[in-house]
Amino acid sequence: MTSPIVRFAPSPTGRIHIGNARTALYNWLFAKKRGGRFILRFDDTDLARSTREFADIIETDLGWLGIEPDLLVRQSDRFALYDAAMQRLRDQGRLYACYETQEELDRKRKLQLARGLPPVYDRAGLSLTSEDRAQLEAQGRKPHWRFQLERDVVEWEDLSRGHCRIDCASLSDPVLVREDGAYLYTLPSVVDDLDLGVTHVIRGEDHVTNTAVQLQLFGALGDGKPAPAFAHHNLLATASGEGLSKRSGSLSISSLREQGMEALAVAALAVLTGTSDSVHAVTSLEELGAAIDLSHVSHNSAKFDEADLVALSARTLLLLPYASVAKRLAALGVGGPQAEAFWLAVRGNLSRLGEAEPWAQVCFGEINPVREDDGFLRDAAELLPAEPFGAQTWREWTEAVKVKTGRKGKALFHPLRLALTGRENGPELAALLPLIGRSRALARLGAHA
Ligand code: GLU
Repeated sequence: MTSPIVRFAPSPTGRIHIGNARTALYNWLFAKKRGGRFILRFDDTDLARSTREFADIIETDLGWLGIEPDLLVRQSDRFALYDAAMQRLRDQGRLYACYETQEELDRKRKLQLARGLPPVYDRAGLSLTSEDRAQLEAQGRKPHWRFQLERDVVEWEDLSRGHCRIDCASLSDPVLVREDGAYLYTLPSVVDDLDLGVTHVIRGEDHVTNTAVQLQLFGALGDGKPAPAFAHHNLLATASGEGLSKRSGSLSISSLREQGMEALAVAALAVLTGTSDSVHAVTSLEELGAAIDLSHVSHNSAKFDEADLVALSARTLLLLPYASVAKRLAALGVGGPQAEAFWLAVRGNLSRLGEAEPWAQVCFGEINPVREDDGFLRDAAELLPAEPFGAQTWREWTEAVKVKTGRKGKALFHPLRLALTGRENGPELAALLPLIGRSRALARLGAHA
C-alpha cells in the first residue's frame, strides 16, 4: 500500500467529544502506523453555525490527545472548487433544481408512507420546465439543488464492516445546495477527498448511507480515479445506551482535560471500547496503534462508562515513565535531581497528575505535621539515621524504633506517617523518606535538626 492519506472532518459548531476523538484517533493511528498523512479538515460551509473559536478549540483538543495534523484545511476557503464541481454535475445533467418547502416535502413523505410506499423524493423537480421555474421564482421561491442518483446498487468492501451493499433506488436524491445557497456536507466532502488525494475515509457508521451517495459523486467527479477505501466504525454510547452529541458537555474533550483526565486514558477508552481488545492503559499512542486494527472494531454498539476514566487515568499514570511527565511536573514546580525519584514514589497514588502537587509539598515543602504521641515521636527522632538516606533507611529506622519502643504494626507506622506527611495514607514511606530528608523529618517529628 502507498502511504495513506486520511482526514478527520469535524464541523466547528461545538466542542468535540470522546466519540469524535474515537474517529480522529482511528484516522491518526491508521495513518501514522503506515507512514501516512493526517489532514484536519474543518467542514465549515455552514457559515452561520461554524465558528473560528470552535475550530481553534478542536485543534487544541486534538493536540492534547497527541494528534498534530500534517495539513489543515477549511472548507470555507474552498468554495470555488465546490462551485466548479456543481458546474460539472450540471453539465452532466446530474443536478436539478427543486422548489418544495420543508412542509411540502414532509406532506409528500407522509402520503407515501400512508400508501405503504418508501418515502423517497419523487423527483418532481426534474420535470419542471423553465416556465415553471420562472413562475416559482416570481413567487419568491429559491431553488435547492439535488444530485440525480443512478438507481443502482452500490457496493464496497468496508475495512471495518466487510462487504456493504446499498440500493440507491431506496434513497432520495440528495440535496447538495440549500435554498439559501449554502453547501451541505455531501458534495464538498467528495470534492476535497478527491482534491487532497484522500485514500481512506474512516468515519462513524452513521455515514454508511452517505457513502453510497458519495461513491456516485466520486464516480461523477473523479475522472476515473478510484474512490478512497472506506471504514465505518461503531459509535460510542454511554453506559445507559445514549449516543453522544455535541451537547454531551461532560464528555467533551475539553472538559475531560479540565477534569484532569490523562489524555492517554481518554485515547485508550475512545479507541478500545467496543473492539475485540480489552480496554487497557497504554504509555503512548504508538502502543495504542499497535494494539488496534479497524477489523477489530465490533459491529455492535460501543458502550462505555465515564466512571471508568478515573481508574484508567490512574492505571495510565502508574505506567508512565518520568520522561513522559517531566514537563508537566516542572509546571507543578517539581524538577531537579530528585524529580524522577519523586515521580516513581508517587505515581501509584494518583488518578490525576495534579494530585502530585500536595506530595511535592510533603517531600520538598512545608506541611502541618500531625503529632499524636510526642514521647514516641521523640524516641523515633533520636533513632533517625544520619544522611545520606537511601532505599533501606526507612526499614532500618523503623526496625530500631520497634526494638526501642516495643511497638509494631499500625501503632508503629501510623504516628510516623501522620507526623512525616500530615496524612493518613499515601505512597510508601520508604520512598518518601529519602525525598523528605533528615532535617524536614526531624522538624516534623518535633525534634530539632
Ligand atoms: N463533517 C462530517 C461529520 O462531522 C464529516 C463526515 C466525514 O468524515 O465524511 O459528520
